[in-house]
Amino acid sequence: MKILITGGAGFIGSAVIRHIIHNTEDAVVNVDKLTYAGNLENLTGVRNSERYAFEKVDICERDALKRVFTEHQPDAVMHLAAESHVDRSIDGPAAFIETNIVGTYTLLEIARQYWQRQDEARKRTFRFHHISTDEVYGDLPHPSDVVGGKLREESQNSDSQYIPASRHNHAILPLFTEETPYMPSSPYSASKASSDHLVRAWHKTYRFPILVTNCSNNYGPYHFPEKLIPLVTLNALEGKPLPIYGKGDQIRDWLYVEDHARALYKVITEGKIGETYNIGGHNEKHNIEVVKTICAILNELAPANKNAVIQKSALHIQHYESLMTFVQDRPGHDRRYAIDASKIQRELGWEPLETFESGMRKTVLWYLDNPRWYQSVKDGSYQRNRLGVLE
Ligand code: NAD
Repeated sequence: MKILITGGAGFIGSAVIRHIIHNTEDAVVNVDKLTYAGNLENLTGVRNSERYAFEKVDICERDALKRVFTEHQPDAVMHLAAESHVDRSIDGPAAFIETNIVGTYTLLEIARQYWQRQDEARKRTFRFHHISTDEVYGDLPHPSDVVGGKLREESQNSDSQYIPASRHNHAILPLFTEETPYMPSSPYSASKASSDHLVRAWHKTYRFPILVTNCSNNYGPYHFPEKLIPLVTLNALEGKPLPIYGKGDQIRDWLYVEDHARALYKVITEGKIGETYNIGGHNEKHNIEVVKTICAILNELAPANKNAVIQKSALHIQHYESLMTFVQDRPGHDRRYAIDASKIQRELGWEPLETFESGMRKTVLWYLDNPRWYQSVKDGSYQRNRLGVLE
């Protein structure tokens, strides 16, 4: 197969490309505009492969996309290109509408016209896989909403005690399934929800052979340091504050990015046309717990009391946790996401290989081993400043 992958220079797209080049015989055409989030260094190690090609193209540009389809004649599309950071979508939603909605529409149309020109055999095997997020489903009840074994009528922002996910009663605290109605909260998730609807409509109306996946929060190597896990890791190493939004009691379900890449490849090769698959790691964690996990791993691998930057400063802290700083919450911040990934497990036999503990350790180690990568990101335009706060 030759797979056209959009957004292949980003965090997840580059993991998918590395997975395909290292583990299959397929070829890849990476279509990426190289926004601030796109980085070709994420593809070192595969970009010299004769099965890899790169096209610097914006998915909103019709003619450029048309040329790419004509020249490369792909057998399938995996669509990951997106504006992906919720805080940025609060400050400037326009780029999210443009790329996530208009860009997806443009790509869908060019791909559909290309598909319709193919002979019957190729038409039958062609696939368009749209990669989306669990954030489209909105907010789930939080453990602090459970009183006396029942959900309170109205979700309240009361003090929440940490209850490990293994002790959540999912009869009371539901999970997102493929049937959960859409209820997006942020400009980011609303734009992704919109793109999901377009893709499904193209199947219903034109019989265009699509697949949709909705995945929980990813973490792992090459993650752009505006997102929680790399931000906290790098700030800690530099003795900078570790921002905790609100009380840090928001719950997210975390998946190691290489597990996601394997799931996506399974779906495009074995998934059933028209279907949606939820992908998750069975790892519900409070944000504050994630930060404390990073601090504990760092304190073991690069102890704060031996960290030269910290010890040279006036900080003299003994543990990275001392850097935790509570900051104003994100407006409209969803409190809990959690995925029911039983359909993809049952129908396609996919399961995550990493636990939260093993994946987090690999991730922190990767950041410690790759200062050149994050230095180059840091030296670019992004300075890890707080975004997405309304005045
Ligand atoms: P990312 O921000 O790291 O990468 C996005 C990539 O898309 C970048 O390489 C960027 O240059 C490219 N891009 C942006 N606009 C473009 C345009 N107009 N034309 C061409 N390329 C463009 O994002 P990510 O975290 O790798 O996410 C990839 C996809 O997975 C997104 O669709 C996102 O919604 C979805 N997703 C992400 C997560 C997560 O936790 N990161 C979870 C579930 C789903």
